[in-house]
Amino acid sequence: QCPWGTSSTTSISCSLADVMSEQLAKELQLEEENAAFPEVVAAAEGPFITGENIDTSSDLMLAQMLQMEFDREYDAQLRREEKKINGDSKVSISFENYRKVHPYDSDSSEDEVDWQDTRHDPYRADKPTTTPRRGFIGKGKDITTKHDEVVCGRKNTARMENFAPEFQVGDGIGMDLKLSNQVFNALKQHAYSEERRSARLHEKKEHSTAEKAVDPKTRLLLYKMVNSGMLETITGCISTGKESVVFHAYGGNATEDKVIPPECAIKVFKTTLNEFKNRDKYIKDDYRFKDRFSKLNPRKIIRMWAEKEMHNLTRMQNAGIPCPQVVILKKHVLVMSFIGQDQVPAPKLKDVTLSSEDMKKAYYQILNMMQQLYRECNLVHADLSEYNMLWHDGKVWLIDVSQSVEPTHPHGLEFLFRDCRNVSQFFQKGGVPEALNERELFNAVSGLNITADNEVDFQAEIEALEKMNEDHVQNHGKKLSTFSSDGDPPIYDE
Ligand code: ADP
Ligand code: MN
Repeated sequence: QCPWGTSSTTSISCSLADVMSEQLAKELQLEEENAAFPEVVAAAEGPFITGENIDTSSDLMLAQMLQMEFDREYDAQLRREEKKINGDSKVSISFENYRKVHPYDSDSSEDEVDWQDTRHDPYRADKPTTTPRRGFIGKGKDITTKHDEVVCGRKNTARMENFAPEFQVGDGIGMDLKLSNQVFNALKQHAYSEERRSARLHEKKEHSTAEKAVDPKTRLLLYKMVNSGMLETITGCISTGKESVVFHAYGGNATEDKVIPPECAIKVFKTTLNEFKNRDKYIKDDYRFKDRFSKLNPRKIIRMWAEKEMHNLTRMQNAGIPCPQVVILKKHVLVMSFIGQDQVPAPKLKDVTLSSEDMKKAYYQILNMMQQLYRECNLVHADLSEYNMLWHDGKVWLIDVSQSVEPTHPHGLEFLFRDCRNVSQFFQKGGVPEALNERELFNAVSGLNITADNEVDFQAEIEALEKMNEDHVQNHGKKLSTFSSDGDPPIYDE
């Protein structure tokens, strides 16, 4: 008996076993790449997490919740015994290796922070900072070099922030503590070996979560959403990608400050880390995340992707661009409104056959959206193609914006050019003779006036502009407000 209540073995439906099978995920991925099958999996026969009959349908979940509770209590007891045995003795023994939950793994309350208030975009105001390249500050007898003991000690203390977030440094960072190089190096050594030890202890666990598309913690999160009444039912899986799994759900009850859409899409950013390595470049160089990136562990970086998607969607929503509306973000799980109807997601532009009239309409709409995105949202989609545009209600909807960056990102213009190439090619092949070529489209969206008439030179000019911006950042500690030099870009309309 399936613990989720309904199990179905018919067709390519998504039973829980399927959802949790990495093997299946890989197969689906391959299918997608071969473009032999549509990647949207038929909605499951029955819901796999429901608000009803919780008692009978979620034994496994209840068991897991109890187990987590037990582990926590067990550790607390262990700590008490440890304390009792050690007493006031100068030499103490540690029970740490017997703990069920390694301190590095326990979710602190800080982890529970949700970004429900989507009006606040914490990255917007952040200005990049540069450190002086000279090794000294001041003049004459007031000169302070980087070898100064006090300055150096304080710097070392500040550098403790770079240790894994779970590394206990007490109040050290808050007070005016001066660590000698020797002490700092010893601490650093210790922090790193702790990190490695923690990784070793959890290797087995990590491995087992990697085999499932949705790990127990995520399932618990989803379960809580249903249990709280925010969602009515999670019906099944819409899409399994390399970096995310998307589910369909029926919305539940509205709260005082929130109306839940009747149908929701739940995007779960995968907590298996390998796939995220190649996305580093989007976030590492994004000045909005610059200060945070180095301090974060991989789990938090994945949350940052979800966070980024939320903020970008909110910007788009505010500009009136058709896109999913954010409902809530919990850790690496983003709930948004569902584009589609009755569990059937709207088709991607690549899968839908449009009349030439609709095709032309779609083209001009996208041209407008790209301009709005650039000018009003200050964003470049950076993965724009017929795969990430849905056709619904007679118009195009933009999705999948976790990788979107601001135009002044060190590779922002290159990403924009790639977006333009995808859009141009799609519509030129799709029989829209009015479609601008990628270079014209790039100028139309960015308002720049790059005159090169071939791909190679054009690309070179883009890179030169990006380099100019980076040099500006280096020299003035801030980026150019915009690339545009000759006023507003022309507005293209039907
Ligand atoms: P990925 O990074 O895996 O490409 P996407 O955000 O593109 O993630 O989502 C994958 C697929 O899930 C989409 O191609 C689309 O079919 C479906 N999907 C995602 N969000 C929604 C939504 N809000 N409404 C309907 N379908 C969605
Ligand atoms: Mn996508």
